[in-house]
Amino acid sequence: MLGIDAMDLKDAAKKKLGAIEENLIALSHRIHAHPELGFEEKQASQWLCDTLADAGFSVEAGICDMPTAFVARAGKGPLHIAICAEYDCLPGIGHACGHNIIAAMSVGAGIAAARVADEAGLTISVIGTPAEEVGNASGKILLLERGGFEGIHAAMMVHPAPFDVIALPIIAASMFEVRYTGKEAHASAFPELGINAADALTVAQTAIGLLRQHIRPTDRIHGIVTKGGDAPNVIPAHTEARYIIRGETLKDLEELRPKVYRCFEAGALASGAAMEIVGGDKPYAEMRHDSAISELYRKNTEALGRKFPDLGPMGRRVAASTDMGNVSLRIPSIHPAIGIESLPAVNHQPEFAAHCITEAADKALADGALAMAWTAIDMACDSALSERLMAHT
Ligand SMILES: [Zn+2]
Ligand SMILES: [Zn+2]
Repeated sequence: MLGIDAMDLKDAAKKKLGAIEENLIALSHRIHAHPELGFEEKQASQWLCDTLADAGFSVEAGICDMPTAFVARAGKGPLHIAICAEYDCLPGIGHACGHNIIAAMSVGAGIAAARVADEAGLTISVIGTPAEEVGNASGKILLLERGGFEGIHAAMMVHPAPFDVIALPIIAASMFEVRYTGKEAHASAFPELGINAADALTVAQTAIGLLRQHIRPTDRIHGIVTKGGDAPNVIPAHTEARYIIRGETLKDLEELRPKVYRCFEAGALASGAAMEIVGGDKPYAEMRHDSAISELYRKNTEALGRKFPDLGPMGRRVAASTDMGNVSLRIPSIHPAIGIESLPAVNHQPEFAAHCITEAADKALADGALAMAWTAIDMACDSALSERLMAHT
């Protein structure tokens, strides 16, 4: 932007964020204390909408036929940037992925960037994206399908982790449920009249164990039995399992899928139980990190005194999946990680949940929010980049 000093805009955004920092931390802690599962995040989405409405955003709740999805918009500039908020928890272990931090951070980034949106030439949308943890047909995937990201030129969010990472290896993933139906019988008196649905799962798990020799080192197969039978003296007639398969890309994933499904079919064949696979139809895609936006985020984060440690071979090993990957294949996006000094605790452990309301977590919230707001300003002030982004849609 000609005649506008990016530093002045960044100072103004920083001041704005400073004024609301305490509220954001309280918001993060409140969401942490009231964990809600995917698509059930009623309180969290309401609190985020209220905070954004109070800050002058125009808020539309329940968008795209999802009661807990929302969009909050501010500014009228030509470059339209989305900041994604997540706020679902994990079953049993609460906010062990730190989505309480993401939620408050994205709201903070949106409010700070909105303070200077018109001067910078920005429109800011904070998009509330439910159910990131569900693994299939999640919030961002349905929002993308239903026009929730229409008109957006670039998207970003920052995820809490043990340490800062600029471009996490984010791989494709697909969650599905397997259901076997056999036939009950007295397990001692008349076992020959039963069809054992638990045996079907045992055979499938054995076959998957053997399959591991024949998959790529970058593939992943993991799951749980969610129903294994009701009583040891009744032949189990109904069993269920939930599995996630992953590959470096959607292409790799779709090559792995039939191999894994065949293992489940083997269980059905061996036991005589009927098999049904539910879900798996709307997988998470790999992430394409936009390198120019990543570079801006890196500089802004380092300006706040944060460092991106060299993780060596572990940097490639710590692959995870998110529906932000699906966004990134359609819209230039970033999804860096921000450290909350949790080690040895890592994401998806109850110990990590405990770390998501510490001083380091609160600091990450504030730093991530400011780094995102500054990155949005830098994107608007870099005419070559903003022209590329605006030409994209
Ligand atoms: Zn997670
Ligand atoms: Zn997460």
